[in-house]
Amino acid sequence: MTQNLTQELDTLAAAVRAGERRALARAITLIESTRPDHRRDAEALLERLLPHCGGATRLGISGAPGVGKSTFIEAFGLALVEAGHKIAVLAVDPSSARGGGAILGDKTRMEDLARGDAAFIRPSPSGGTLGGLARRTREAMLACEAAGYDVVIVETVGVGQSEIAVRDVADMFILLMQPGGGDELQGLKRGIVEIADLLVVTKADGDLEAAAGRAAAAFQSALGLLRPVSPAWTPQVLQCSALTGAGIDAVWTACQDYRAALGEAGLKQRRAGQAVAWMWDEINETLHARLRDAPELAKRVPALERQVAAGTLTPTAAASRLLDAFFGDGAPETT
Ligand code: GDP
Repeated sequence: MTQNLTQELDTLAAAVRAGERRALARAITLIESTRPDHRRDAEALLERLLPHCGGATRLGISGAPGVGKSTFIEAFGLALVEAGHKIAVLAVDPSSARGGGAILGDKTRMEDLARGDAAFIRPSPSGGTLGGLARRTREAMLACEAAGYDVVIVETVGVGQSEIAVRDVADMFILLMQPGGGDELQGLKRGIVEIADLLVVTKADGDLEAAAGRAAAAFQSALGLLRPVSPAWTPQVLQCSALTGAGIDAVWTACQDYRAALGEAGLKQRRAGQAVAWMWDEINETLHARLRDAPELAKRVPALERQVAAGTLTPTAAASRLLDAFFGDGAPETT
């Protein structure tokens, strides 16, 4: 690393720590970049930030499109800001993986919350894979913590595996469900309810209030049949309305109760497990990328794919041949 670059990163790290929003935005842009030189710089930056991380409450919030995530986060975030917190929202849209752009970024969202200095909102493209989502989100989360945000929310649209990825970066996973949407059954079927630390039924107002009550009762009894994920905490079901503000404070109270129930040791343990899982995610991602980019494999892939497609070679055998070719002839560098 050149002296210039070292200095630049020192300056950027200092500006992030001083809570400068533009510096934080630049840091996250660097973190999100897939260019190898940017990756190296991002790692060097994170090394500088890491000693100042870990102090935030990390919340993962998910739910089906239209359930009311951005409306909820805006109301929730404004209440937290009012109470003196600094909150960062990282909105990840896994459905943008193919198109490359962030759909969430196109929508004007959380305008009131975005206006104040105490909130930082960042839509992120997930960039291809769930592993990519997890890596960049984790790193962006660390940067927000170093910048002094004491509540970091990772929001994602609930599309299958993305909830799991979000749960794996957060201290607490909050699932939003809407009344009358048949969500009760869907969520249960997909096993998502089982991994939630808190279920919040949205839109408990006006015509939907009664349906919200019924949905909450249905979830409550469904949860009663499940074994809690953690012995320290039994998942709760709450109802709220982002429109009237009813029940919004109770969600934060539940977050605090959860943290108290987990205790320092429990939180440490959860984060430690996540860090180790993160390491393995990195290994998977990196290996996959190196395999994909290895020129010595590129030559063999089309023929092997043809054979697998034609049924003349089993997928397992083809995979073994590719991996042997990679680790045999073209052994990866060891560092
Ligand atoms: P997202 O796609 O999950 O982010 O959902 P949005 O926050 O964009 O909300 C989807 C729709 O639900 C919008 O039309 C909102 O106005 C409406 N909505 C959100 N929260 C509430 C609420 O608390 N009560 C009612 N009645 N409608 C809501």
